[in-house]
Amino acid sequence: MEHEHLYQKSVSYLKTLCEEIAERCVGSEGNRQATRFFEKAISSLGWQTETSELEVMDWQESGATLRVADQSFNMLPSPYSLGCSVQAALAGVSSPEDLEHREITGRILLLSGEIAKEQLMPKNFVFYNPEEHQKIIALLEKKQPAAIICATGRNPSLAGGAYPFPLIEDGDFDIPSVYTTEEVGRDLLTCIGKTAVLESRATRIPAKAYNVVARKGKETAERIVLTAHIDAKKGTPGAIDNAGGAATLLISAELLKDYDGDRTIEMAAFNGEDYYAVPGQLDYIRKNQNDFQNIVLNINIDGAGLKESKTAFSFFNLPETMKTTGHDLLTKFAGITEGAQWPQGDHSIFIQHGCPAIAVSSQWLIEHMDSQQITHTPKDNISIVDCRKLVEVAKALNWFLRKQNR
Ligand SMILES: [Zn+2]
Repeated sequence: MEHEHLYQKSVSYLKTLCEEIAERCVGSEGNRQATRFFEKAISSLGWQTETSELEVMDWQESGATLRVADQSFNMLPSPYSLGCSVQAALAGVSSPEDLEHREITGRILLLSGEIAKEQLMPKNFVFYNPEEHQKIIALLEKKQPAAIICATGRNPSLAGGAYPFPLIEDGDFDIPSVYTTEEVGRDLLTCIGKTAVLESRATRIPAKAYNVVARKGKETAERIVLTAHIDAKKGTPGAIDNAGGAATLLISAELLKDYDGDRTIEMAAFNGEDYYAVPGQLDYIRKNQNDFQNIVLNINIDGAGLKESKTAFSFFNLPETMKTTGHDLLTKFAGITEGAQWPQGDHSIFIQHGCPAIAVSSQWLIEHMDSQQITHTPKDNISIVDCRKLVEVAKALNWFLRKQNR
């Protein structure tokens, strides 16, 4: 009953990552526990490991309050924002054009409506950063409001299921900010011009985090890289996103224990997919800058194992023979189907560097990326994961990788 043994192991991996470890956001002690656990587990399966240290920022908050006249509003400090205690007139803008023309320097600035419709990409986020976002950030930094209040709705594709969502989540942006619901935003619009007092209790704490890379196989230049981010968003157990991915790497590592194929297999537990500065991904890119041509395939697991959903393999630029094996895999493993291409994951790093890739996720998540309310919320816990699906993915990858000899 090899299958049963792997199932029990995947349940235990998930429990460790999501329950025994309190949180896995980058910079937290839990995040370091998670990478230590991963490193220990994979090296005990006979894989060579390499750990790199990353300088990151942990962050703590204990709420925020805004007072205008005799009214008081509870606010949420924007993740990784500096705290503040300011008194100033309240100003409001709802579009980038407004922002350009309104007098806002030294004011407490309310961003609501169109300008607050989707999460602004962090300043130094290199993989995806629309010009519109960069322009808004640059204008804010140029005009220097004393603090910012963001009134937001829902934005699942960029911010997951959270409501309200933090419009700004960026430890490299130094104007203090808080966020609140659209409803409060509407109330505040009636207070524009009045004196407001904003207290936000938040602190940035320099910390360390680690990337873990493990290797197996002959010492050859060509390699296949399996990736899964091991960090989770603050405030979520991150079961589907992405303890399931890290657990799948470990089960695959066990199935591939005796692998001795023509290509090196590398497994990377990336630290930072759900963190503003993506430090683990950037570190990996720096280290492999002149080596991406040797990566013949990336397989990235993110969002796999959702109950009552098929697993989706999405193919990106696979060479013909690999594509054929990929399609054979779909007929051989009943719970796996071909998924649409989606860009919001670590496979995009490899695709941007010219490597073929396979992204592994849950069909339902891909189809509901713009409306789902699970990821980045407390709902993303162990109860929504079916570990049998993780085992199936690991078995499929083991089967697929052993067919990749030259
Ligand atoms: Zn993820």
